[in-house]
Amino acid sequence: MSVRVGFGYDSHRLVEGRPLMLGGLHVPHTLGSSGHSDADVLLHALCDALLGALAMGDIGSHFPDTDPAYKDADSRELLAAVVALIQGKGWTVGNVDCTVVLERPKLRPHIDTMRRIIAELLGLAQDAVSVKATTNEKMGFAGREEGVCAYAVALLEKK
Ligand code: MG
Repeated sequence: MSVRVGFGYDSHRLVEGRPLMLGGLHVPHTLGSSGHSDADVLLHALCDALLGALAMGDIGSHFPDTDPAYKDADSRELLAAVVALIQGKGWTVGNVDCTVVLERPKLRPHIDTMRRIIAELLGLAQDAVSVKATTNEKMGFAGREEGVCAYAVALLEKK
């Protein structure tokens, strides 16, 4: 069996007046992530991990933030498009593991919903989708609540 691994990272500013979208879920909070699309750092990091596994560029090269077509884009649709690209090349997702870095709010009550959404988009069982969350101990931009970031790795298997 042939396998490939990919890594992704994304960050967005936290601002007032925007929804906080994480893992395809609207997480209630006083701040939201700013960006051209819905600015879902978790799904963006996942897209980059999947694309990275096949050295197929990054999310910005496939869905440019200068393109009005992606204004306020639903990142679930971007991830679904990336999955279709991968499957078109004869690969399937084995498992993914992600970490979101955010001071507030606590994500634990939302983690399993995010896993379910991501598992559905990737065509995986929920136990093949790991979503973890950590604060940054008040250090750096995430610690000062200026932004949110996410890291992801993905394993792909040749069908
Ligand atoms: Mg992004």
